[in-house]
Order: sequence, then C-alpha cells, then structure tokens
Amino acid sequence: MAAKIYYDNDADLSCLKDKTIAILGYGSQGHAQAQNLRDSGCNVIIGQREGSANYDLAVSHNFEPKSIEEAVKAADIVNILLPDEVQADVYRAQVRPHLRPGNILMCSHGFNIHFGLVEPPKGVDTLLVAPKGPGHLVRSEYVKGGGVPCLIALGEGAAESTRQVGLAYAKAIGGTRGGVIETTFAEETETDLFGEQVVLCGGVSELVKAAFETLVDAGYQPEMAYFECMHELKLIVDLFYEGGLSYMRYSVSNTAEYGDYTRGPRVITEQTRQEMRRILKEIQDGQFAREWILENKAGAPAFKARRRRDRSHQIEVVGRRLRKLMSWIDAKEV
Ligand code: NDP
Ligand code: MG
Repeated sequence: MAAKIYYDNDADLSCLKDKTIAILGYGSQGHAQAQNLRDSGCNVIIGQREGSANYDLAVSHNFEPKSIEEAVKAADIVNILLPDEVQADVYRAQVRPHLRPGNILMCSHGFNIHFGLVEPPKGVDTLLVAPKGPGHLVRSEYVKGGGVPCLIALGEGAAESTRQVGLAYAKAIGGTRGGVIETTFAEETETDLFGEQVVLCGGVSELVKAAFETLVDAGYQPEMAYFECMHELKLIVDLFYEGGLSYMRYSVSNTAEYGDYTRGPRVITEQTRQEMRRILKEIQDGQFAREWILENKAGAPAFKARRRRDRSHQIEVVGRRLRKLMSWIDAKEV
C-alpha cells in the first residue's frame, strides 16, 4: 500500500489559532521549529533552562524563555525537543505534573513515548511531527520558502482533531511544502533507529574506517586512503540523492559499475544481512532502548570512551588536516 502523504492544502493553520505552543528546548530542532511557528503566525513560548548558550540564543531571537514548568503551565500544546536520553527524567519532574486534560503532548522522535518512558496522563493525546532533517535545515529551507518533509503519527486513542492540529503544526514549520507522511509511533521509532544504526551512522562509519585501515595497512598513503574512502563518498551520495542507484551507476565509469556489482555483495554478505535482522529485533523488542537508558543512568562511560577513541582515529587526524587545505569546504571541528 502506498503511504498517505499530506501537502499544504490538506492542512489548516486555523487549527492552531487560539492555541499556545510551548517548545521545550532551544537546541537543533527547538530553535528551528519555534521560529518557523512564530513566522507562520502561531503563538509560541519557549521552555529553556537558564544559563546556557541556547537560552541566550532564544533571547537573541526575541523570545522570552521561561522555565520548563512555567512554559508547560501556559501551553495547550507541549512539544518536548530535548535530547531523547534526558526526556523521561525532565518529563516526570517538570512536565507531567503541569499537563491538563485537553493538552496535546508532542515530540519529533517517538523513542520515549513508544518505549513507555514518557506516559501521558489521561485526557492528553500524544502526537508526533518529525522533520526528516536536522534543525538548521528545517529553518533555512523554511526561510527560502521550502520545507523539510515530515512524518506525522498519532498516539494510541488520539482524537481526529489531534491529527488536524498535527497537520497544521507541520504546515507551520514548512513540512507540508515538502510532504508529510502518515506513520505510527512504532514505525517511526523503529525505522529511525534501524536506519541510523545500520546505514547512516553505524554502517557507513564502520565501512569507511575498515576500508581506510585496509589501504593504510597495505602500505598506501593515508591521504590517498582518506580521499578514496571518505571524501569521495559525498560525490556518490549526492548522485543517490538526485537519481538513486541508477543515476550513480550512469554517472560513474563502467569499470566502477562492474566493480560495484561484483564486489559489493562480497562486502555486504549474508552474514551482514543476518546481523541487520538481529539489530532490528533488538530495536523492536526494546533491548536497544533498555541498554541506552542504562548506559545513561550510569553516566554514559562506555559511550564517552568510545567517542574519545574514535575522535583520535587516524582517519580523523588526516582528514582534519586535508579539509583545512580545501578552501571551499567549510571545515568543521568538534
Ligand atoms: P538538542 O541536543 O539540540 O537539544 C538540546 C536542548 O535540550 C537544549 O535546549 C538544551 O538546553 C536542552 N537540554 C538538554 N539537556 C537538558 C536537561 N537535562 N534539562 C533541560 N534541558 C535540557 O536536541 P535535538 O534538537 O537534536 O533533538 C530534540 C528532539 O528532536 C529529539 O527527540 C530528537 O530525536 C529529535 N530529532 C532531532 C533531529 C536532529 O537533526 N537533531 C532530527 C529529527 C528529530 P541547554 O542548552 O541548557 O543544554
Ligand atoms: Mg533519523
């Protein structure tokens, strides 16, 4: 069955007319969604703790950020745009006590609600409107007159009027200009985690590192290995983005295309596919979610150690140097 996709004409901004929307957190998604909503004529307030750069940013954008509690008290619609791993604690202490029947509780990723870490009180519908792109793009596309496509999902038992609110919200942040796909909390959460683990973050990072190490171990220059295995990936991904696998294969040489067909399946083997299914299972049965929550409860020691180790990997050291020499790249450092 083809997915249901909504566009501008399917959404009515007047559903938000008398509503106050609290955006909790002024980070990547928060700063973008809040400004787009305001520019679309919505009544937006910010819940952001004091004393951080994001607080100052909200002030510099002419918002008057309140505490999370005060923002929730004043709102009809509450959107939690905090990092997923802190949402449950902040929700229990600062959000839930101030929710009233008729409020709508929103998020941009279903992790906490789907896995039952954030449980709405009776009379409060849950609603997901998830932009399929980072916050800075949600803002810059909107300003240009475009929009980042979004997903919409209704929580269990939510009213039809909540869907209308969700569509209006998606329109107000620019989402219906790109298209808003109807999904469920389970599908959004599980496919999102799977995509980032298997392809977008986990799969591709490990593939690039393994290929880089193979070349360097075989005596090739690290600079060559960097260009072949990491830098050029962007060119290939741009072709995917514009015209799929076929366009990439049309654009590269026949030699590259032949190597693709005959060697690719030797890299991604039946064993890899089996592992992908295992990873999906761990997402579906909540094992991954439990592991990540426990890791955070312990202060994220394994996570931080791994982050430190990978930041000093040879491909990062070489890449940092080479990117600085390519003046057209807006080289970033963390
Ligand atoms: P960010 O990490 O950018 O948000 C940080 C915000 O949360 C800041 O305002 C920060 O305040 C606040 N914050 C962090 N910890 C706490 C805390 N303990 N108590 C109170 N406030 C806190 O988050 P994102 O925008 O990346 O993610 C928000 C949601 O959007 C998540 O559910 C994510 O999955 C989803 N999403 C994110 C996308 C992305 O591209 N980033 C894409 C699609 C969905 P301070 O500055 O004071 O620390
Ligand atoms: Mg994602």
